[in-house]
Amino acid sequence: MPDQTNEIRYVSTRGTAPSLGFEDVMLTGLARDGGLYVPDAWPRIAPSEIGALSGLSYAEVATRIMKPYIGSDIPESEFEGLVEAAYATFSHSAVAPLVELAPNQWVLELFHGPTLAFKDVAMQLLARLMDRALTKRGRRATIVGATSGDTGGAAIEAFAGLKAIEIFILHPHGRVSDVQRRQMTSCDAENVHNIAVEGTFDDCQALVKALFNDLERRDRLSLAGVNSINWARIMAQTVYYFTSAVALGAPERTVSFCVPTGNFGDVFAGYAASRMGLPVGRLVIATNTNDILARTLKTGRYEPKDVVATSSPSMDIQVSSNFERLIFEAAGRDGDRVCTLMKALADDGNFTLAESELTAMSDLFLSEAVNEKDVGETIGSVARETGYVCDPHTAVGIAAARRVARREEPMVTLATAHPAKFPDAVAAATGSSPGMPERLQQRLGAEEHYDVIANDYDTLTEFIESRTRAIQEPAT
Ligand SMILES: *Cc1c(COP(=O)(O)O)cnc(C)c1O
Repeated sequence: MPDQTNEIRYVSTRGTAPSLGFEDVMLTGLARDGGLYVPDAWPRIAPSEIGALSGLSYAEVATRIMKPYIGSDIPESEFEGLVEAAYATFSHSAVAPLVELAPNQWVLELFHGPTLAFKDVAMQLLARLMDRALTKRGRRATIVGATSGDTGGAAIEAFAGLKAIEIFILHPHGRVSDVQRRQMTSCDAENVHNIAVEGTFDDCQALVKALFNDLERRDRLSLAGVNSINWARIMAQTVYYFTSAVALGAPERTVSFCVPTGNFGDVFAGYAASRMGLPVGRLVIATNTNDILARTLKTGRYEPKDVVATSSPSMDIQVSSNFERLIFEAAGRDGDRVCTLMKALADDGNFTLAESELTAMSDLFLSEAVNEKDVGETIGSVARETGYVCDPHTAVGIAAARRVARREEPMVTLATAHPAKFPDAVAAATGSSPGMPERLQQRLGAEEHYDVIANDYDTLTEFIESRTRAIQEPAT
């Protein structure tokens, strides 16, 4: 028997779902007790191993950083091949290049994938890992996901045409940008289904959550999730924290990151990198006008308000799902405590963190909210001062980073979308439209395919059940 004692298992933030291995966690998404899966212990990468990443390709670093999370579920050489293929879809040879705006002020470009948003980094890998896992098991799955804009396009691009997977993507009708909608709806693959819900992103997310908590249906449809709560996505996102910090002098040097944040997946990956041993100075949670996380970090009180539409729609979120993972950590990995807080949120519409929990978070995290006026001014001033043109999401990050940067320490702002995805906001701020990459131009002209449905659970389930080819017949 192989020695399995060092393998990572994954446990739920709510403490009662069974612990699972990597592939099961990836195929499951949300835990059956409503919680999110996290590794039972953080793998440590020694300083010498971090130093040894210097000079390696992105795919090589990715393989090394993710290996402990995957354990023996995938043979190493096969995993290497999947990682190589995933990052070969990126148009920049560095995959995630760093750009210097000013001394110690950096931008990490995560938008060189097929849909020009950082979601591609995780989704390109996730699709390959899921297809492999399902095919190996002789199974099919129904993927249902909610998107505030970029996840949907990235998921559709990554999963289109895969035989083992039927994919349904919900987006808030009329609340994603024209480019974002067309990126999703211009796909004509048979296994892709776009659903425009008459509601907000939070409504879409609530529908998907309800579906995952409907355990009988979840089994019958063989549901799998690809939203940012999927552990494999967080795992894939830890990689660029390593590549960029190493390029800037880690492990000898400490590097801080500023992350345009919505569902807290990307910045939680930074937390994971820190727990793995990367010397991360501070993690700045940059929010737009939808500032629930900035308010929570300042006051301890987590209280969703109405979602306000902004120029950075992928961050127009008030219920930040992955924040539950940080609460679990800050509460000393106490699943009962997480359940208590989540119940308060469901019953009373808010909860308040304990002093000790808030202190634990404040060790590493701080948060800045950036209003619409500052977003526009930042796009304009960065372009004038440095010649660098950024999109509104990245501008939220740069504005927040400039407020809190310390002169002596590198601060890396994650650039999460290509400016060409938000031409109107960029033109308004700089006076000229960003150039549109050919890849994007081709897609936007194609015919659109989507259905509009009411914000209603039964309507959604009927829609999915009548279309998926992944229904599990009861065993005979
Ligand atoms: C998804 C997204 C974000 C927010 O990332 P989270 O992991 O949800 O916090 C920021 N910017 C862009 C462009 C995105 O697509």
